[in-house]
Amino acid sequence: MSDVLTAQSRKIVTAIPGPISQQMHQHRMTQVGFGVGATLPVYIDHAHGAILTDVDGNQFIDMGSGIGVTTIGHTNEGVVRAVTEQVAKLTHTLFTVTPYAPYVELCEILNRVTPGSFAKKSALFNSGAEAVENAVKIARKFTGRPDIVVFDHAYHGRTNLTMAMNFKIAPYGNGFGPFASGVHHVPMSYPFRDGNITGQEAATRAIHYIEKRVGAAQLAAIVIEPIQGEGGFIVPAPGFLKALSDWAHANGVLVIADEIQAGVARTGKMFASMHEEGFEPDMVTIAKGVAGGMPISAVTGRAEIMDSPTPGQIGGTFGGNPVAAAAGVAVMRQIEAGGVLERAQAIEPILYSRLEAMKAAHPVIGEVRGRGAMIAIEFVEPGTKNPNSAAVDAVVKFCHQNGVLVLNAGTFGNVIRFLPPLAITDAQLNEAMDVVAAAIASL
Ligand SMILES: *Cc1c(COP(=O)(O)O)cnc(C)c1O
Repeated sequence: MSDVLTAQSRKIVTAIPGPISQQMHQHRMTQVGFGVGATLPVYIDHAHGAILTDVDGNQFIDMGSGIGVTTIGHTNEGVVRAVTEQVAKLTHTLFTVTPYAPYVELCEILNRVTPGSFAKKSALFNSGAEAVENAVKIARKFTGRPDIVVFDHAYHGRTNLTMAMNFKIAPYGNGFGPFASGVHHVPMSYPFRDGNITGQEAATRAIHYIEKRVGAAQLAAIVIEPIQGEGGFIVPAPGFLKALSDWAHANGVLVIADEIQAGVARTGKMFASMHEEGFEPDMVTIAKGVAGGMPISAVTGRAEIMDSPTPGQIGGTFGGNPVAAAAGVAVMRQIEAGGVLERAQAIEPILYSRLEAMKAAHPVIGEVRGRGAMIAIEFVEPGTKNPNSAAVDAVVKFCHQNGVLVLNAGTFGNVIRFLPPLAITDAQLNEAMDVVAAAIASL
């Protein structure tokens, strides 16, 4: 390991967490509620590109991007400039009182780059969960129907409605009920655990359940992540999304693609929905990667759907904040200018070749999957498909101790997901993979 340990980008100079982080964490535990967790309690002082520097001077290669948020890279120059200029000009008016340009500019870009060639409109919010909540509100208003369908292994947020939409009750929902009603969970297409059924067959299974259990006439919308994030980067079998949306559209049901984790260049296309031929969601929820770390989210959808609420029904004090919107415009302009999607596409084969080699050597890896810079490995007990979360815990810990920030995922906690900033260099990416390989070899 000594060669990688001395490399410039990654630098571990103390125990992890270091002494200053440990002190800060002790203080935090007396001041911040316990429900706010901490995966790796090293306190980050600054970051650039794909490198996080903590208060003790340790440098980590970031393979998580704050869960897919700093996709464009930490302290991206264009974002820093846009934010700096905007913050000195105007920080708030409340868009629904007296509007400002960056809000409209970001909507215009999102209307142009989201899937579907139909006329679109957008509205901006603060968080992913808030975007999901609003997409459901708008779908109910437009259709006049009450119910929604969500999928096994899904994650949609931590508000009351989105807790009801999540697959996992622990930790997200335990003790927080009662939850919103009218939410129905149906089987997802999960190729690794589905046997050999096709996307069409998996869709038929879900549709059968919807028709028997819910009834299309009650159903406002299907909400689906085109690639599931927290669920463990589950890529549905080809044809699944299209077959579902064909059924939905034949039955007056809207399709909402939750692109909060998979969208905005992460998978090598502008939105993950675009990987599936003919799949055109009626509405898309967008957040995480859209503004380089500034908090903002969006719902973009068919114009007639987005126009169904009356003025005053949609909004919020901070929604579409001018500084966050300016950051969003800066990110989206860079992606449109070219090179960013290509970078995500180039990261895919690097991660695949490294991880497939680890899989061939270590049967504890059951599957490598994902698209672009959104790639995961699922851990099993060798020779079976039994989830192996203990292996994940050990690998994650080893990586953290050795200066590579990785995140777990999955319904069974047995997935490690990689979603690096696209600003990561090939050398940094390979160095991170060297550490992951050493971690797996050490099991
Ligand atoms: C993170 C996430 C959310 C929730 O976003 P927040 O900003 O944390 O509220 C919703 N859906 C998906 C797919 C996500 O990954």
